[in-house]
Amino acid sequence: MTIHELHQKLVNKELSALELTKAVIAHKEAVEGQVHAYLSDSHEQALAVAEAVDAKIAKGEAIAPLAGIPGAVKDNICIKGQPATCASKMLENFIPPYNASVIEALQGQDFISLGKVNMDEFAMGGSTENSALAKTTNPWNADYVPGGSSGGSAAAVSSGSAIWALGSDTGGSIRQPSSYCGVVGLKPTYGNVSRYGLIAFASSLDQIGPVARDVTDAALVLNAITGHDDHDSTSIPGQRPDYTKALVNDVKGMTIGVPKEYFGDGLHEDVRKAMEEAIETYRSLGAAIKEVSLPTTKYALSAYYIIALAEASSNLARYDGVSYGLRVPADNLVEMSTKTRTIGFGPEVQRRILLGTYVLSAGYYDAYYLKAMKARRLIKEEFDRAFEDVDVLLAPVAPNTAFKFGEKINDPLSMYLEDICTVPVNLAGIPAISIPAGFASNGMPIGMQLMGKPMGEEAILQAAYTFEQARPECNKVAPTGEVQL
Ligand code: GLN
Repeated sequence: MTIHELHQKLVNKELSALELTKAVIAHKEAVEGQVHAYLSDSHEQALAVAEAVDAKIAKGEAIAPLAGIPGAVKDNICIKGQPATCASKMLENFIPPYNASVIEALQGQDFISLGKVNMDEFAMGGSTENSALAKTTNPWNADYVPGGSSGGSAAAVSSGSAIWALGSDTGGSIRQPSSYCGVVGLKPTYGNVSRYGLIAFASSLDQIGPVARDVTDAALVLNAITGHDDHDSTSIPGQRPDYTKALVNDVKGMTIGVPKEYFGDGLHEDVRKAMEEAIETYRSLGAAIKEVSLPTTKYALSAYYIIALAEASSNLARYDGVSYGLRVPADNLVEMSTKTRTIGFGPEVQRRILLGTYVLSAGYYDAYYLKAMKARRLIKEEFDRAFEDVDVLLAPVAPNTAFKFGEKINDPLSMYLEDICTVPVNLAGIPAISIPAGFASNGMPIGMQLMGKPMGEEAILQAAYTFEQARPECNKVAPTGEVQL
């Protein structure tokens, strides 16, 4: 069930928001023993909002598109009075005293959250295995990771324990788990959605966005969270369009670029085949297909893992045992802070702080950080040039489908390499959507990525929507995902 279908049922009084919320909670309780998408619950608040929505419907008042439809929120987005752990021991007991701006916006639209969902610690990772608090499994097959870092968001939507979710994407963390779990994920243009209240990983790359069952729902969630925010100095000013207007089933006259660097040697054959079929689908629907070259793509992964880690080392300096979060007692301040940070942060977070501090240190700054920033500029300019000739770019979301638990966790470099197709988008600040594009021979979902120019969400939504209409067999519900109403 999608947001748009359920909204109709609520408005037509075929179903009440309370019945819907209870049904999704019951389903969630049935599947969570296997999936473990959630870190905390807010069922009581959810049921109270559902009743308020039903009261509005009974009075004949209009309700917002998301009103009364249960969602889930990644545990790095602050909801006042509810835990925001970032899946870290450091913040295990942290209760934010304020709402993220996206939550403020959603609460104004009678938003229902069933709880906070799992992630890689501080959003660092691509499998959710770096969570210090829970092990989330892939709803298609529990031997496989759900992807990450928004693995809880994608697994919750895929397993039907939320109808939609919020994730965050710094280098692919909305798109990659969405592709591994067979759902839709949208990373908006940097600055389109406010970051206020999103616990920072790498501030120049982080962006909140929707995880949803289909493209229409992704547009509806984006509509609900987009907009300028004075609390975020990098928020883009001005009005936003109604993104549902872009849901037009037509790609005639559209030029779709295929960047050849995304189809290199490491690409799994099943993923390559699915991308080729998708290109053929677009061609048959009347789109012009154009091969393009983005040669600086080869620098993107290195640049990302320097810039993101540099920013993380600075952002995470605040967890010193003094202001908030964990404090491990010791005899003096330095020892207290050291103990707090070695016990509070997991191994991947510590590795990243060390690397990030290193690339910023005197003597290495120019060789690493400054060079990475120059590469970033070149990557951005190359995208700008490509978008002079094409409307959207089509590429895989990841070189492989979901992998098994333990396969990459002890080899950080092989885990980082899975980010090769997603990080250029964050470096350039452009929007990209991940949509289901078929299944690998082992039954795991394959995701296709459509990238757009800055604030070009409408073009990627239109191309994604058209594909979804033409190839409905690509978007199936996971074995555990069917909610009984
Ligand atoms: N997998 C990438 C990383 O580990 C992306 C993470 C993200 O987008 N939050 O940095």
